[in-house]
Amino acid sequence: MIKFLDLQKITQKYSEEIHEAVSRAIDSGWYLQGKENELFEKEYAEYIGTEYAIGCANGLDALIWIFRAYIELGIMKAGDEVIVPANTYIASILAITENNLKPVLVEPNVETYQIDENLIKKAITQRTKAILIVHLYGQCAYTEKIGNLCKKYNLKLVEDNAQAHGCRYNGQRTGSLGDAAGHSFYPGKNLGALGDGGAITTNDKELSETMRALANYGSQKKYVFKYCGRNSRLDEVQAAVLRVKLKHLDEDNNIRKDIAKYYIEHIKNPNIVLPIVRYRDANVFHIFPIRSKDRDALQKYLTDNGVQTLIHYPVPPHKQECYRQWNELSFPITEKIHLEELSLPISPVMKWDEVEKVVELLNGWSE
Ligand SMILES: *Cc1c(COP(=O)(O)O)cnc(C)c1O
Repeated sequence: MIKFLDLQKITQKYSEEIHEAVSRAIDSGWYLQGKENELFEKEYAEYIGTEYAIGCANGLDALIWIFRAYIELGIMKAGDEVIVPANTYIASILAITENNLKPVLVEPNVETYQIDENLIKKAITQRTKAILIVHLYGQCAYTEKIGNLCKKYNLKLVEDNAQAHGCRYNGQRTGSLGDAAGHSFYPGKNLGALGDGGAITTNDKELSETMRALANYGSQKKYVFKYCGRNSRLDEVQAAVLRVKLKHLDEDNNIRKDIAKYYIEHIKNPNIVLPIVRYRDANVFHIFPIRSKDRDALQKYLTDNGVQTLIHYPVPPHKQECYRQWNELSFPITEKIHLEELSLPISPVMKWDEVEKVVELLNGWSE
């Protein structure tokens, strides 16, 4: 069986270093807000290229804290609108609604799967305060046009970098392109912990201090509470693990890029649509998405032949029960992607004979 993602092997790859780091954290006797977290924040900020990185409990919280901090600072208020791609993972949208802000869904480009820069302007109103771009599947969603719209309409540019650690735009890392970015270290992400974890990056000092307080009970000084915050911290063991994996992130991303390159060059089947990559070297291929009109049959064929695949995602946010007020809305491109998308195995521990087998099977498939 070729697994979609073999987390056991991914951990084994750096097993010795990870065990050493975990032991160090355990033996230190200090489990929250200690040295590992401090060093990880410093190393991660350096890697992304921002002044500040703040560790927090998970990627969803990271995004929640960004918008909540803007509200605490009086820059946004309940009912304000945030533009977001309609085909994103639900967390991007939950972070907006959790703060009583209003998501304004915008269709993606069907070739890149990223928010369609040409549809954003139409979605801007008097109440628009931010654009939340999502570097979906590991590809950069930022464009100059989006940057210019933010400047022109005085909008905050927030990045959801949960799927794109290490991705670049003109040499600059995603997560440093806007005003603030949320990062997830869910185990399956390109930079994954051994449990939940997240971070926020920004160059904005005041915002960073507010977010740090919010994720720590709203406190900046022990037993003094400035905001009604929550407990949303990154623990020392996870920070220690992440420090190990961050060191190897570029090397691991390069393996993903090599596999993607091989897929793109060798999959030749008229019934399969390959991803069109805008900035090829920049894409860190968290996901390798293909499309087929007969997606479900293709998935079954691959399963029957020992290849595990996933769908990212089977049901778009506006069709979910939690957002039943949008269920009747129509986003044809988003819906098409959700009906046709299939994610092939791709990871830093995938073997070349496995990659070749996937290609062979795909080239031998007929509807
Ligand atoms: C994984 C993910 C998140 C949420 O991260 P968690 O750590 O699972 O909370 C947010 N946005 C996107 C696009 C993601 O893929």
